[in-house]
Amino acid sequence: MSEMVGTTPSGEPLDVLIVGGGPVGASAAALLQVATKDARRPLRVAVLELNRPPAITPGAGLDSRVSALSRASERILTAIGAWPLIPPSRIQPYERMRVWHETVQPRSADVLEFDAAYAGEPNLGYIVENRLIQTAALTAFESAGGTVIAGALSRLRVHDHHVELETSAGTLACRLVVGADGARSAVRESIGLAAESSSYGQIAIVANVRTELPHERTAWQRFLRTGTLAFLPLADGCSSVIWSADDAAAESLLALSQSDFEQELLRQSDAVLGAPKLATERLSFPLHKLTATRFTAHRCALIGDAAHVVHPLAGQGVNLGLLDAAALCELICAALRKREDPGAQSILRRYERWRKSELEPIALAIDGFNRYLAHGVGPLSRMAQRGLALVNRSDEVKRFFITRALGLAGELPRVARQPSPAPLPPLS
Ligand SMILES: Cc1cc2nc3c(=O)[nH]c(=O)nc-3n(C[C@H](O)[C@H](O)[C@H](O)COP(=O)(O)OP(=O)(O)OC[C@H]3O[C@@H](n4cnc5c(N)ncnc54)[C@H](O)[C@@H]3O)c2cc1C
Repeated sequence: MSEMVGTTPSGEPLDVLIVGGGPVGASAAALLQVATKDARRPLRVAVLELNRPPAITPGAGLDSRVSALSRASERILTAIGAWPLIPPSRIQPYERMRVWHETVQPRSADVLEFDAAYAGEPNLGYIVENRLIQTAALTAFESAGGTVIAGALSRLRVHDHHVELETSAGTLACRLVVGADGARSAVRESIGLAAESSSYGQIAIVANVRTELPHERTAWQRFLRTGTLAFLPLADGCSSVIWSADDAAAESLLALSQSDFEQELLRQSDAVLGAPKLATERLSFPLHKLTATRFTAHRCALIGDAAHVVHPLAGQGVNLGLLDAAALCELICAALRKREDPGAQSILRRYERWRKSELEPIALAIDGFNRYLAHGVGPLSRMAQRGLALVNRSDEVKRFFITRALGLAGELPRVARQPSPAPLPPLS
């Protein structure tokens, strides 16, 4: 092996290198670092991130890229010490969700309403700026002794006992590489893992708006025949609009003047929050779905959007990615306790089985919502639309959905199972 950065002074490879310090990669790194920092031999973990965003200056307006975080995500971010680093004044808990189809009135009994109180919870989750989640997780990782390397991965070569990575910061070596580098993952491509990917034929338009009526700590979502329109409540009283519209409709909306767009938003939201005024520029994101056919290869694992991308209508991308991170870290720590190699094939196989079996039904359900609620006009769609009103009449069915929205269903990693703050298991 030639001289490398990202190795120990004795020239040994790092234990784990995480490519991509987005919300998911940064949290995975912090989970590993925090769990092993007091061990006799702490794990040597580094993150390679090509574009670390600047921290948000206090008093700055809210970014328009936000995520709805589940209870499971809150627990994971609490366990790594990132949650307390997010200013409470920028976190908006939401207590209710109101979901309706354009064929019904927005405040009628046919609107599906989920209330945190049904499940005995204080809220259903939180709306937080993506940049804050990412910077808090990276800071927590560094505070626990981890290293963030500024640079981009160009190529990697997998050997029997280590992986060698060509990056703009030099050559790195590690025993396990974790691809957390998003939907266009260079890790996934370099190791030749195939992915099934297709366009939804939709573009998400994202902007913050100030509305005439208060958001009532409620996430509002209207299914339209041409997509989905959501208003997520923000801590400054504004709402984050996420409008996923068919390509042609979205292009027309983006071409509208500010005031014509606001008028269209008022009309398409059925004036549920009164007249909206844009508080930020409109951003647009073409929507794709993606599932890597394998989540692992020899000494390599994929997490977050590098492994799977789902439609944003259910607000699950970061939440699913954080569960990937927690599952992988739990298996790595269990292996370390048995003095096993963190890149061992047995760990990676268990990770892949665990997370694939959790993800597949969720991805199918999200696709179903998009296909039958947001678009369809046939009998299945009419059934799905009537189904919203039926779900609303059953507390039991509602609790089923609330548990899923909280991210507390299925086989959860230990750190997401416990009420916060969840201690990480000590490592000898
Ligand atoms: C409109 C919209 C709304 C959404 N709303 C929600 C929501 O409410 N809740 C939710 O949970 N999810 C939501 N999502 C999904 C969520 O944004 C993604 O799932 C999430 O950002 C994935 O995180 P990640 O860390 O896996 O990937 P990314 O956020 O894509 O981060 C990847 C990181 O890797 C770095 N990187 C990339 N290539 C390289 C390289 N070659 N070398 C080094 N570094 C590299 C990038 O700079 C980046 O920092 C939404 C998505 C969209 C489009």
